Amino acid sequence: MIFSTSIFYINVAFVLKTAFCPIMLSTLLLGFIWAVIMAFRDGIARLQKLHRIPCDRCVYFTGCQYLKCTVHPHKALTEEAGDCLDFEPASARKLVYQGSRKRWSKTRSIQP
Ligand code: SF4
Repeated sequence: MIFSTSIFYINVAFVLKTAFCPIMLSTLLLGFIWAVIMAFRDGIARLQKLHRIPCDRCVYFTGCQYLKCTVHPHKALTEEAGDCLDFEPASARKLVYQGSRKRWSKTRSIQP
């Protein structure tokens, strides 16, 4: 009697293991794929947000690491500058200081 009961429990454990293991693995795999997709979407949304920062095309942008903007020095090149009301498009090339390279260079020209 004890032997048949233990065999019964072993069989139940085997059936449960074989039934739930693929389900758990599939759930884990789907969760991983979902997390990768969400991270990819978040990355794209963040990149789009960063590309909306207009400071490098603004006339008030200096390019100097000590004073990036003469109007909003703390706001320049941050996400807050995405909706800056003082944005003034630079209509011609201007010189900006490239601090890391220790030289002045021209920004890209912006056509009005
Ligand atoms: S005025 Fe606004 S958009 Fe222009 S550089 Fe300063 S923070 Fe950026």
